[in-house]
Parts: sequence; C-alpha cells; structure tokens
Amino acid sequence: MSNGFSGDYEEEAHWTDKANCKDRGHLMFPKRHKDITYISEARRICRQCEVRGECLNYALSFPAADMHGIWAGLTPRQLAKEQKARGVTPSKPTIAEFMADMLRYYKEKPEHRAKPTGVRDDWQEPN
Ligand code: SF4
Repeated sequence: MSNGFSGDYEEEAHWTDKANCKDRGHLMFPKRHKDITYISEARRICRQCEVRGECLNYALSFPAADMHGIWAGLTPRQLAKEQKARGVTPSKPTIAEFMADMLRYYKEKPEHRAKPTGVRDDWQEPN
C-alpha cells in the first residue's frame, strides 16, 4: 500500500530506522545556532552509527547553507567542503526555493490551503 510518498522516501525511511541518533535529535541539533558544545557528543554518536554512509549521501543532497546540526559526523561547513570535493550539486531545493514553490502552489490552488489550526471561525484567507 502506498503511503503517498515517493520510493526515494521509503528507501530513506528504511536507513533512518537504523540511525544511531534516532530519538536523540536533541543531541544532534543545537537549540541556538552559535552553540558548539554539542558537537563532540554528536560526532561520537555518528561514529557508532551503522548507516553513516547513507546519512552522508542524504545530507549531501541538501544545500549545505541550509543545514543545521551534525549529519554523518560533519558540520554544515564540512558538508559544504565535502560537496565541493566530490563535485556534488545538491538535488534538494533550498528552503527559500521550497517556500517560494509552496507559496506559488497555494496561490494557484487556494482551495488546497488548509485553515491554520487554532484560529477563529471567522478567519479569512489573506489577499
Ligand atoms: S550518521 Fe549520525 S546523523 Fe547520520 S543517521 Fe547516523 S547518527 Fe544520525
């Protein structure tokens, strides 16, 4: 049965089930961007991870400038260097591109736009 996601997602979901950081995301991503105290513990978790290769390939598919935290034992700056060294062009859109696409989609299909939760019944779509 399809879950509505692409085959790529199902493949990614498979390796993430084995992630050593599963249910420990708070140790991989700092609450504040300038906090670097978490890095050594996050890298220790990654060193013991059996899906580090899959994780690295996945991480390299994102624009490094949008990355946050530690992926496959690497900081976003190290991921950017790795992309450059491997000649990898990220296949995933930047957050800005994703948001622009989403806004374009909802502008073209306002009927698909969900009413935000927790708003009054007389809430109206902004023009
Ligand atoms: S390599 Fe690190 S970030 Fe990637 S899945 Fe494993 S523990 Fe998580």
